[in-house]
Amino acid sequence: MILLEYDIDESPARRLPSPGRCIYCGATGVKLTEEHVIPFAIGKNATILEEACCENCQKIIQPYEQRVLRHQLGVFRAMVEAPTRNKKDRPKVIRLPLVEIVASGAAGRDLGMREVPIAQGPLILNLWQSPPPSILGETIDPANADGGPWRFIESSRADPILQAVADEQGVERVGIVLPPVNRLDYLRSLAKTAHAYAVAELGVDSFEPFLRDVILNTSDDIAHFVGDMPRVANLEGPTGHSFKITLGQTPPELGDAGGLIVVFMQFWAELGSPPHLVVVGRPLIDMDEHFTARSAQYLADGGD
Ligand SMILES: [Zn+2]
Repeated sequence: MILLEYDIDESPARRLPSPGRCIYCGATGVKLTEEHVIPFAIGKNATILEEACCENCQKIIQPYEQRVLRHQLGVFRAMVEAPTRNKKDRPKVIRLPLVEIVASGAAGRDLGMREVPIAQGPLILNLWQSPPPSILGETIDPANADGGPWRFIESSRADPILQAVADEQGVERVGIVLPPVNRLDYLRSLAKTAHAYAVAELGVDSFEPFLRDVILNTSDDIAHFVGDMPRVANLEGPTGHSFKITLGQTPPELGDAGGLIVVFMQFWAELGSPPHLVVVGRPLIDMDEHFTARSAQYLADGGD
């Protein structure tokens, strides 16, 4: 059941009033800073919650979020011209670490780094795919309980570059080495974004939160709440959209796990990238009523 969709490429920027406390630890009476619901590096100022994060929580969250944005998603961000606070930080070239691929398909000799102008570089997505969150009760293959890396390299652009290096070096095949994805960092960042998004859309008192320990690094039991959509590869055809986020509820047929608030997120959906699903909490309000009231308000405000 999809209740709401936010498309950072098309929806207007929003600034929402302070929830009156830290949305992660619940602290009140402390200094609170504004919170980018979708990280600035992906969504610029798409949705900002004013005075919503305390300094303690920021100190815990920022390191893992920055590792994901800078190291894991850095090239992708540059390719899609994602925003950066510091223009000097924005790469003008993609640096591609190259390696010889030997006959067995394994990596051989290190061929060093090649610089390619961003405009000619291949789109590279370096993500993680996981089984569905275990709270949903889907059967999960124990051998694949942690999932694994998911990579996309745009071959129409990468192949000519790799072929040129192969010819120059006199080797058969050349491949691109991608940095390893830190699963916990990545899933924690998804949890944090999903939680903040649910707070922005529903209000901080509207649900019993499941993700605080995961976001604040006091639990690694992330697979219970964070994973990918069960049995769904790709929800839509080409959209050209770099990031989508949607809020909904689990279907009532799931019994104990039915009616929970979930947030769906996907990078560059048309590439069939992993459709991430995060179970953020149990509603404490009537969700249908909330959204009926919201759409009435939206129409009253002149929306269509
Ligand atoms: Zn806090």
